Amino acid sequence: MADGGWRMADGSEGMSPEAMIQRTRDFANRVSKLCQALPSGPESQNVRRQLGRCSSSVAANYRAAQRARSKAEFRAKLGIVEEEADESIHWLRTVIDQEMLTKSRVEPLLDEANQLTAIVVSAIRSAKSRKTGPTKEPSAIRHPPSAIFKVGHGFDLHRLEAGLPLIVAGVSLEHDLGCVAHSDGDVVYHAVTDALLGALALGDIGTLFPDDDPRWKGADSRVFVEEAVRRVEDAGYVVGNVDVTVVLERPKLRPHIDTMRANLAGLLGVEVSAVSVKGKTHEKVDAVGRGDAIACHVVAMLM
Ligand code: MG
Repeated sequence: MADGGWRMADGSEGMSPEAMIQRTRDFANRVSKLCQALPSGPESQNVRRQLGRCSSSVAANYRAAQRARSKAEFRAKLGIVEEEADESIHWLRTVIDQEMLTKSRVEPLLDEANQLTAIVVSAIRSAKSRKTGPTKEPSAIRHPPSAIFKVGHGFDLHRLEAGLPLIVAGVSLEHDLGCVAHSDGDVVYHAVTDALLGALALGDIGTLFPDDDPRWKGADSRVFVEEAVRRVEDAGYVVGNVDVTVVLERPKLRPHIDTMRANLAGLLGVEVSAVSVKGKTHEKVDAVGRGDAIACHVVAMLM
């Protein structure tokens, strides 16, 4: 058995932890694809969010269990895996019961969720009987447990000049000035992209979409957010919530806040209640305060 391996409660040798980490990741990725195929509408949006969250959590917590620094932590993490796998079963059954997708499409994943639950229940039982868990003493180099949550920060600023469009969170605002930018200059979408990439330590928007690449000239900035969301899903996370602060002297953002929140919620695959957009002025201080620039700060939580 590999380091950190375990035996099933019945004494038979189970999958190696590495194989199980991969298997739980595969499960999360397959569920993510299934979620994308769900029909639109408020009921399936909730199912999509919940199912995406708990299937990702199965993978993240199984991985975290393998990095546990004590038997108690190992068992606790596996307990979360069991709960999240069980919740995945609940939501997959809901998809079938409410006929959101065909039974034949969902059943293979339901079967996998049941198998994962059985394996983890067995592992917990074995851990309690002290036959399992990490077999190594903690080494001098401590590996942090895999994070259940990740937080990212994004910031962007664009100069404003006459005769250019001013697009903020997908909303085209009436104004005599607009953003000087290689793309459409949407500061909110740029800062959100940076916050998501920052949470995953994947660099920033310029790393993925260099501003000297002609492909992104005048691009609709939603493509940047969409790519960042794909990266989030690939890493086994979903967006928990985002908090956006736009700093701009004019025009007033208040009439457009709800549209901006809805635009972001759609792109991020979350409820509108998970998206905050706030407008501030810069009190006539500096370039933003003089109305020569627009800035945006974003904090995003992944889970
Ligand atoms: Mg920018």
